[in-house]
Amino acid sequence: MRPFSQGIGMTSQRTRDRLVQRLRSKGINNNAVLEAIGSTPRHLFVDEALASRAYEDTALPIGQGQTISQPYIVARMTELLLEVKPDKVLEVGTGSGYQAAILSRLVDKVYSTERIESLATQARQRFRRLGYRNVRVQHSDGSWGWPQFGPFDAIIVTAGGADIPEPLLEQLAVGGRLVMPLGDRLRQILVSVTRTPTVYERVDLEPVVFVPLIGGGV
Ligand code: SAM
Repeated sequence: MRPFSQGIGMTSQRTRDRLVQRLRSKGINNNAVLEAIGSTPRHLFVDEALASRAYEDTALPIGQGQTISQPYIVARMTELLLEVKPDKVLEVGTGSGYQAAILSRLVDKVYSTERIESLATQARQRFRRLGYRNVRVQHSDGSWGWPQFGPFDAIIVTAGGADIPEPLLEQLAVGGRLVMPLGDRLRQILVSVTRTPTVYERVDLEPVVFVPLIGGGV
């Protein structure tokens, strides 16, 4: 882990606590999710130049035209997934690795795919440095899922698309939950899909804005 002084660590803890309070005031009430956000060093998932803004409730650039998602959205999507008590989760869109880091504190195994190789490599290095051992990252087009490790109890897509990729629906376990932003490039709606033995039940939630999902499985 990169050495940083205790002073900086303590400051981040205070700012993280403030972020947690803010998320609570916005309606996030799953304590396990709030605890994970309160103990994950988001400032180590962005460039040093942006570290001072890491605990604002906002998306930030991570290079390659991509973003680390807003903490509120990370918390919201995570609490939706946890409703089905997943052990094994697939994430499409590793980005900085922050969402996967939050999930890794709450479930047994996280499989995360990223189509931009440099981001996948950076995230892998971050997980190694910070000691996250239950996250596996693959540089791939995650719209095809990760069939080798499926089916998954939960799938989170952290990029927006017009439709849910068919391979992801196939790799969702019965009783499992998929959460994804659906819509056009400018704005989407967050949807939650639960697979029952006979159908996929879709619930439309709130408006969101994500970078696009780019892939062949869409
Ligand atoms: N979850 C990330 C985090 O915690 O930092 C934020 C993800 S960012 C909003 C969306 C990411 O999805 C980008 O890094 C982008 O390259 C990736 N992406 C887009 N289409 C993809 C695909 N088909 N397969 C895998 N990753 C994809």
